[in-house]
Order: sequence, then structure tokens, then C-alpha cells
Amino acid sequence: MDMRIDAARVESILELARGTDGKRLDSILDRAEALKGLSPEDTAALLATDSPRHIERMFRIAGRIKEAIYGERVVMFAPLYVSDHCVNKCEYCGYSCGNKFTRRRLTMEEIRAEAEILERMGHKRLALEAGEDPVNCPIEYILEAIGAIYGMKVGSGEIRRVNVNIAATTEENYRKLHETGIGTYILFQETYHEPTYTRLHQSGPKKDFNYHLTAFDRAMRSGIDDVGGGVLFGLYDWRFEVLALMLHNRHLDETFGAGFHTISMPRLCQAQGMDMSSYRVLSDGDFKRVVSAVRIAVPYTGMIISTRESPAMRKELIKLGVSQISGGSSVEVGGYASRENGGEQFEVAYSRPALDVIRWLMDEDLVPSFCTACYRRGRTGDRFMSLAKSGNIKNVCLPNALMTLCEYMMDYGDDSFRTQADALIHKNLAKIENAVMRELTRENIEKIKRGGRDLFV
Ligand code: SF4
Ligand code: SF4
Repeated sequence: MDMRIDAARVESILELARGTDGKRLDSILDRAEALKGLSPEDTAALLATDSPRHIERMFRIAGRIKEAIYGERVVMFAPLYVSDHCVNKCEYCGYSCGNKFTRRRLTMEEIRAEAEILERMGHKRLALEAGEDPVNCPIEYILEAIGAIYGMKVGSGEIRRVNVNIAATTEENYRKLHETGIGTYILFQETYHEPTYTRLHQSGPKKDFNYHLTAFDRAMRSGIDDVGGGVLFGLYDWRFEVLALMLHNRHLDETFGAGFHTISMPRLCQAQGMDMSSYRVLSDGDFKRVVSAVRIAVPYTGMIISTRESPAMRKELIKLGVSQISGGSSVEVGGYASRENGGEQFEVAYSRPALDVIRWLMDEDLVPSFCTACYRRGRTGDRFMSLAKSGNIKNVCLPNALMTLCEYMMDYGDDSFRTQADALIHKNLAKIENAVMRELTRENIEKIKRGGRDLFV
């Protein structure tokens, strides 16, 4: 059976959780330390507590889980907006059809130009984004765009994984997307609370709550192995949203053998034509609770934040479990080229924004990773999850992170960057526990320095 949200059940789990005493909370947190994840009921208890001691302990455990599973690596990606045509009226989005502005769909030439800029920034992983418009942005256009991106190479630069964030669609269209070799299919539920969803989606196909909610069922039935969920925090009560996300994850896991590959954690922010005063913007403190609860509940699911979060907040959220961020991002259609044409110099225009994020990560002793290995090794869906749940994924993440950072530093770094990155790589090489893997990574790093590329395990 496809995904359904029983709001009364979600509310009753949350209500019951409000009475959880300190002793039970401690026992839930003791279990959380085992890295096996938590049931939705236990997650609800963590979301319900206002006890500073338990919240602090949650943060500590989320940090330990992040450390144990993801170590210091943070995966980098860039969004690529190809069309802002949209037939939906979503109250919180600037692309809403209710907003009047000149809309644009990139030509294949323009898409190649954007991808070229991203390749010259060093990106290997994109999230292709488009509004919903069957006439101006049909599936054939999206498929052609993906093919155009995969088919190009600029020097040593190439996009190795195209994740796709397009509107909920049919099984037939998902099958076509799967056949082009997409990475993760990403779709935000926005809110799992149906009355709120119905109020905020005033017209257009997206108004159909159940069609949107069951999109991942159709996608996975059509062969797409990796799906990425998310909600827009601030549209409705965050406890309800996190619990519903966990129920959705469990549904996918039980039905298809793999829950969410990633969960995106955007916070609502001002968009054109939107009145922020009618929303419950999530405080920094509550957002940290959300991130740590998700990290504890689903330890092996990648968690993504955007660079719209302040550097201070990003730093805290990465410590609590975020594993992917965007770097040097533009959220406009044609935004990378227009930034380049803005009269700025090469580096400022499209190299520095990504480099800034990468340098910032390294300054924080984190390892920026451009890895796309799992998807290309066939480690997707249930195969990925079984490796992840056994705890063995970290044995490949750090080696791949170090090899891709080495590639980045050779191709895009200046002398000072190379010095800093090289020191970080050598410090982290020593942290690879398996001696054979450590030696293989060391050898590959030497090969990359001598001109080898695209080495991964
Ligand atoms: Fe924005 Fe997506 Fe809604 Fe279109 S469907 S208005 S792009 S949120
Ligand atoms: Fe992601 Fe797999 Fe690379 Fe780890 S090894 S960063 S899980 S693609």
C-alpha cells in the first residue's frame, strides 16, 4: 500500500510522548548510543522533552553518531535551476504562478554553460531543479538537460552525479528519469499536515496532497533506488513534521527495503509575495533539536542543509549530524552565468564562492568531499542501506573524501590552498582504520598528484 499519513495517529503519538518521564528518556538515549536508530514513538519522546539535561544529552549523542558514521567528511553539491516556469500556486515560494515576473527556461546551450561554470568550480554533484509546468518544462526537456550535463567535460571537470528535484510525476516519467541515470530523486513534502498543505497550495497539480505524498512510492516502483525527502520547516509544527518524516521513512524502508537516502532540512525564509508574519519560524535552538533528533532516529540517512544558514549555524548543525552542504550556490535560473557576466573577475564570479565554503570547512578541520562513488559502484537503495546499517560505509567515505579533495586541490587550488589541503589529507589518512584501505588511499593520492583522476573505492 502507498504512503498515507494518519494525522490523528501522529498527534496521538506526540500527545503520549508528552508524558515521557526522565527515566524513560534516559533509557531511549542509552539505546540511541548504539547507532541503531529509534522508533517513531521514541523519536517523539525526544521531540517532546523540554528538559535541558536531556536536550544537551541528545546533542552530545547526535554529535557522537555523526563522528562515528560520517567522521569529518562533508559532501559538497551545487543546485542548478533550469526553469522557473510553474503552474502551481505555493504561498511560500517566489516561483508561485501568482507572482508576476519574466520566466525563463534555459536552452541546452545555456545549461551546458551553467554546468561548465560548476565544473570549473570543481563540483561533481548537482541537484537539478525546476518548477512544474508540463508545457514549458516537460519531462523530455528534463531528460535532455540531464543528458547534456552528463555528456560534457571541461578539462578535468565533469559532473558525475545528477540528482533531480522536480515535481511529483507518473511512474512512466520516473522510469524515464531512472533510465537517464539520475542519482537521488529529491522531493520535499513541504508539510505533512494536510490542512496546512491544502491551505498553502492554492491551485495547480501540487494541490493534490496524496499524489504528492505517494510520489516516492511511484518513483521506487519505477526503479529509482535513492529518494530524498524533506519538509520546509516553519510551515507547521516541527514536532509533527519530524514524526511524519520518520513514519514516511519507515514506510519506504518496509515497502522497498530502503528509507530516505537523504533528508533535506530547509528552514522557511522570505520569498517574493509572502507574508512571513503568518508562519512559525523555527528558532535556532529548536532547529538544532530537529537536526539532532533526525540524526539519532535515522543515523545512516544523509542530512542536507543549504548555505543559506549562517556560518555559525552551519558549524553547529554539521556537528549535530549534517553530512552535505551546497557550495557557491545560485538559486536563480541562469544564476551562475549571470554572476559571471556581472563584471566580476573569474575567481570572484564563480570560483571563490565554492572555494570560500571549502576553505571554511577545512578551517573547521572538516574534510570537503566531492565523492560520488556509491552510485557509480552500484551501492544504491537496499545495497547502500545494508552497507550503511552495518556501519561499514565509513570505511569508504573517508578514503573517497580524501581522494576527491586531493583531486580538487590539484585542479582548482592555489599554493596556499594546496598546502592547507595536503596537511588535512595527511592528517586524515592516519584515521583510516583498515590498513589495506589506508595504503590504497595513500597510493591513489600519489597517483592523483601525478595526474590520475576519478579514483574511488
Ligand atoms: Fe515553487 Fe515548486 Fe511550488 Fe512551483 S511547485 S511554486 S517551484 S514550490
Ligand atoms: Fe556518499 Fe558513498 Fe561517497 Fe560515502 S562513499 S560520501 S556514502 S557516495
